[in-house]
Amino acid sequence: MAKVEDKKKRKNCSLCADKVESIDYKDAAKLKRYLTEAGKIIPRRITGTCAAHQRMIAKAIKKAREAAIISYVFD
Ligand SMILES: [Zn+2]
Repeated sequence: MAKVEDKKKRKNCSLCADKVESIDYKDAAKLKRYLTEAGKIIPRRITGTCAAHQRMIAKAIKKAREAAIISYVFD
């Protein structure tokens, strides 16, 4: 049975906390927080990012890659 604590813990999306409504793909510093050293998007079960924001991140990262703002693999 669900504990009361679980409900409180669920909302730990840092972007929701910051009331982020859009992610600028040019903001490489922010995007890199959601990438592993290998340049892969960190799963939201690890970052705690909500589904909506995770989608925004994925989209922004894709765009940033296309614009060569972030590389696929970091040195
Ligand atoms: Zn969120």
